[in-house]
Amino acid sequence: MPNKKAYLCGGNGYLMECREECGACCIAASISSPLPGMPFGKAAGVYCVNLTANMRCAIYNSPDFPDVCRAFRPDIQFCGRSRDEAVMILGELSGLKGH
Ligand code: SF4
Ligand code: SF4
Repeated sequence: MPNKKAYLCGGNGYLMECREECGACCIAASISSPLPGMPFGKAAGVYCVNLTANMRCAIYNSPDFPDVCRAFRPDIQFCGRSRDEAVMILGELSGLKGH
């Protein structure tokens, strides 16, 4: 959910917003639900086709924005404290199960 909006999330009591130019959740995570342009979702490590070069979602909050992405909020337990940490955490989680 690589955006831009000031989503504040209280996961683990740590408030955070989606960091600029991250996109880790749109790359590292596996997504089993259909995404626009990716009807079978995507495997871990695969770039979502809707991710722009500056790591934003091209369809964010549009009618095509998938529910699975809408439901995913920045949270320290998934996003870590850096993009690298997010890639590591989400990659490891995706090795266990998709979201
Ligand atoms: S991993 Fe977290 S911080 Fe990075 S784009 Fe996704 S929601 Fe935003
Ligand atoms: S549709 Fe947008 S928010 Fe969802 S995985 Fe793709 S780029 Fe990320």
